[in-house]
Amino acid sequence: MTEPPAAPHSDPTSLNGHPLVVAIDGPSGSGKSSVARAVARDLGVGFLDTGAMYRALTWWCLERGLDLADRRAVADAALVLPLQLATDPDAVTVQVDGTDVTAAIREPRISQVVSAVATNLDVREILVRRQRALVAETAGRTGGCVAEGRDITTVVAPDARVRVLLTASVEARLARRATELHGTADASALAATHDEVVRRDRDDSTVSRFLEAAEGVTTVDTSDLDFAGSVAAVLDVVHAGAGVAP
Ligand code: C5P
Repeated sequence: MTEPPAAPHSDPTSLNGHPLVVAIDGPSGSGKSSVARAVARDLGVGFLDTGAMYRALTWWCLERGLDLADRRAVADAALVLPLQLATDPDAVTVQVDGTDVTAAIREPRISQVVSAVATNLDVREILVRRQRALVAETAGRTGGCVAEGRDITTVVAPDARVRVLLTASVEARLARRATELHGTADASALAATHDEVVRRDRDDSTVSRFLEAAEGVTTVDTSDLDFAGSVAAVLDVVHAGAGVAP
């Protein structure tokens, strides 16, 4: 999905004095990263891309020549990962030990193996702890936090005031990722994108539940929505839920 210019700000954070945490989960190609970032921008609060943390850890493990199947070594790396994650939705950057890896962590060589790191349960425990701390710190500092990933509504921030599952048909998700990665959604681009979407979601769903909404989580299906429509649909859920105490 391509992003239109920033929408005017709305401010449900002022509905009561508490920081507003918005949790968004979804499969790959649902548009959650770009939608969540736009929602954070509209609300004027911070943004946390938890997938970037799994990707950054994967990048660092490969950089250090670790065997991703060595669960102990990868979990040890997670414990000391020197990660700097900017939470400004207008300037999202990821650094590992001073190296800017914002673009590198999106490369296919990372997407292809990140699930091996993310299905390591020791790694999840460590990163979930860091994610909870980051959500709290960001929300305290900016008045709120829009956090997106696979287990935000269920594990990282199950008490978030607003919880959304962003879904889309597999066809829509494949077409979006193909266009993103290859600039076209023709047959060969769709085939090349299959692993990035379908296989990765299958592997990821062995440790997180993001293909169906947990209780109390609102589903937003973006199959027939464009980017602006998807952002508006999530903001509607935020506005409907923001006045309700957590
Ligand atoms: O969302 P994104 O594609 O950047 O996520 C990269 C990977 O990180 C996912 O395929 C999944 O393996 C992992 N992930 C996760 N839990 C999250 C966010 C991402 O396991 N909350």
